[in-house]
Amino acid sequence: MPKICVFPGDGIGPEVVREALSVLRTIEEVSGGRRFETEEELLGGVSYDAHGVPMTDQALALAAASDAVLLGAVGGPKWDPLPFEVRPERALLGLRKNLGLFANLRPAKVHAPLLCASPLRRELVEGIDLVVVRELTGGIYFGEPRGIRMENGIEVGINTEVYTRPEIERVARVAFDLARKRSRRVTSVDKSNVLESTELWRRIVTEVRNREYADVELSHMLVDNCAMQLIRYPKQFDVIVTTNLFGDILTDEASMITGSIGMLPSASLGGKVGLYEPIHGSAPDIAGKGVANPLATILSIAMMLKYSFDRTVEAGLIEEAVTRVLAEGYRTGDIYREGPGVRRVGTKDMGEAVREAIRKRG
Ligand code: NAD
Repeated sequence: MPKICVFPGDGIGPEVVREALSVLRTIEEVSGGRRFETEEELLGGVSYDAHGVPMTDQALALAAASDAVLLGAVGGPKWDPLPFEVRPERALLGLRKNLGLFANLRPAKVHAPLLCASPLRRELVEGIDLVVVRELTGGIYFGEPRGIRMENGIEVGINTEVYTRPEIERVARVAFDLARKRSRRVTSVDKSNVLESTELWRRIVTEVRNREYADVELSHMLVDNCAMQLIRYPKQFDVIVTTNLFGDILTDEASMITGSIGMLPSASLGGKVGLYEPIHGSAPDIAGKGVANPLATILSIAMMLKYSFDRTVEAGLIEEAVTRVLAEGYRTGDIYREGPGVRRVGTKDMGEAVREAIRKRG
C-alpha cells in the first residue's frame, strides 16, 4: 500500500490537512478501495515545542521512507524570536535539501467562478493556466559565502548566487518534460544581462532544449520584464522555469493574479519522494477559527495523485469537484464576494462540499 507521510504543521495547517485527507479517503471510496496508508509527524513550531528542533531525525526518516509527503504549513509569531537554526521554516529547507527536491512546481490557474476575485481585469485573467518551475535547492538561498560580518570596521551582509551545470540541466528537464504534457512552451527567466550565474543558466537551458527537446518552444525573459508581463498579459505564459530567488518572488505574484493564495497547490519534485503543500503559510491571523480555505491543500492531494502515483483520473475527479463547488457558490472568506447564489462557508463545510461533489461524480 502506498504510504503518505503527513506533516500538518502549525497554524491553519492541521485544519486544512484534515479536510484534504478526508477528501483522499473519499477518493479511496469511489475508486474501488485502492487505499493509502498515512502516518503523521510533528514539523515546524509544534516540533520545536515538543522536541526543541523544528524537524527531528525521526520525522525526516518517516518522510524519506514514504512514497509522498503532505505538508500543511509551518511557522507563526510564537516562534519568530527563536534563533535562525531552530526556526520552523528551517524544517522546510532541511526537508527539501534532504529529500533532494530541486524543482518546485506551482500552477497558477484561474477558476472561472473566481474571476472577480483577481485584482486584474476579467479579460486579462480569464483562461490563465500557467506553471512556474522554481529551482529549489541551489542559488542564493544556499550559496557560500554567506553571513553578516565586520570587514575593515564596516558591517557587511553577504549572500552568493551559485549555479552549477548539473543543477541547471536537471531543473530545465523538469520544465521541458512538463511542457510536453501541456502546450510545449517554456519561458526561461533570468537576469543574464547583469548576473553571470544566470548567463550560464540561459546558455545551459538553451543547450538542453536544442539537444533533447527540439519539439518544445523556448524563449528567454529577463526577470524584471517577466514581473511586468505577468501583470500586463499573463496569458502569454505556459511553463516558466527560473532560479530559486526569482521563482520565490514570481510565484507569489502569479498567485495573486489568480485571486487567492488559499487556492493554490504546489509540488516539490526531484528525489524519490515528492512533497505536496499549499503555497500559503500558517495564516496565524485566522488559525483555529475554522475559516481557512482548504482548497489549496485539497488540490495538493490532486497533484500528489498525478505526480507521485500516476493516478490522473482520481486527480481529475478532485479538480473537477473543486470547480463544481465554486460554480455552486461555496466560498470561504478569502474568496468571498457578495453575489447571487454565493454562500460563505467555513473550512469543514468547504471540505464536505468537495467530498459530496466527488461522490456524486465518482
Ligand atoms: P500566510 O500565507 O500565512 O498568510 C497571508 C495572508 O493570507 C493572511 O492574511 C492569511 O490569513 C491569508 N491566508 C493564507 N492562507 C489562507 C487560507 N488557506 N485561507 C484563507 N486565508 C489564507 O503568510 P504570512 O502571514 O506571511 O506568514 C505566516 C507564517 O507562515 C509565517 O510564520 C511564515 O514564515 C509562515 N509561512 C510558511 C510557509 C510554509 O509553511 N510553506 C509559507 C509561507 C509562510
